[in-house]
Amino acid sequence: MAISEFELIRRFFSAPARPRADVLLGVGDDCALLCVPEGRALAVSLDTLVEGRHFPADTPAQAVGHKALAVGLSDLAAMGAEPAWMTLSLSLPEADEGWLRDFARGLFELAAKHEVQLVGGDTVRGPRVITLQLHGFVPAARALRRGGARPGDGIYVTGTPGDAGLGLALALGQRRAHDAADETFLRARLERPEPRVAAGLALRDLASAAIDVSDGLAADLTHILEQSGVGARIELERLPCSEALRRTVALEDDRWRYGLAAGDDYELCFTVPPAHRDEVDRLCSAWPFGCRRIGQIEAEPGLRLVRAGGQAWRLDARGFDHFAHA
Ligand code: ADP
Ligand code: MG
Repeated sequence: MAISEFELIRRFFSAPARPRADVLLGVGDDCALLCVPEGRALAVSLDTLVEGRHFPADTPAQAVGHKALAVGLSDLAAMGAEPAWMTLSLSLPEADEGWLRDFARGLFELAAKHEVQLVGGDTVRGPRVITLQLHGFVPAARALRRGGARPGDGIYVTGTPGDAGLGLALALGQRRAHDAADETFLRARLERPEPRVAAGLALRDLASAAIDVSDGLAADLTHILEQSGVGARIELERLPCSEALRRTVALEDDRWRYGLAAGDDYELCFTVPPAHRDEVDRLCSAWPFGCRRIGQIEAEPGLRLVRAGGQAWRLDARGFDHFAHA
């Protein structure tokens, strides 16, 4: 390595911009010493990004730094947890200072926004692999689990799922965007997802179940259905769709495939009991990224997708472009 491991940690990862009061000891000793606030459970999530598998090798380092944290923040959001600390394992083929500077910039810009402090990690030489563990707080009884959906609950999704998957198809040269502005928008949705942390916190006492959409809306909603022992009906014409996706993907069936089967969106999918519906609808209309009710939970197991006229529609994503999750 051009610079030593210790020099690398010191230069890029050891000086918190705004140290948190609950960090007694951060980077630099054998362990970090951290204080979980009284009455809160520690919510912990870990994700690994492998170059060539989870992000193309030519992804800008700043986007990799952003995304490594964004995926963890999205998990905390889906639990209704408030982010606090992160630890970072970096496996790098060489100490490329330009790459590290850009990676750190992407990581710490998003960390500052959510007041997350890096408190430790590990640095090794190897293929480029980034593992980030995120820690947050939630009163245990108020955490948003996957198993709480009940028949009659509304199903909601934030943002416009499908954009990130289309952004990947553009990055891989499998599709061409309608125009340059759409290309920029869709690539940003892939490379710089904005985790819905504030939405997750607001939903703590309102949603009956929640999950973040990382593998595709249909697959992730199915986790809620299975863990809750229920089924669902999705009204296809209610699926949110960005203008960029609408312009770039001509066929309606293909738009639904992106919306339901493409991964990497990091939006929230959640369910709401009838008693909280009005309050959630009010919240949703105030969120700048949008949020829409797309269907409802039913007692009969399975996921039913229906067109405007009520006919069933089958999601067959196989052989369709390429979906993000290998
Ligand atoms: P040890 O051999 O005791 O594990 P290391 O040399 O691996 O110590 O790490 C020294 C310190 O630097 C520790 O506090 C560790 O948490 C921190 N550290 C190492 N790599 C990173 C990293 N990529 N990001 C943040 N902190 C790191
Ligand atoms: Mg170590």
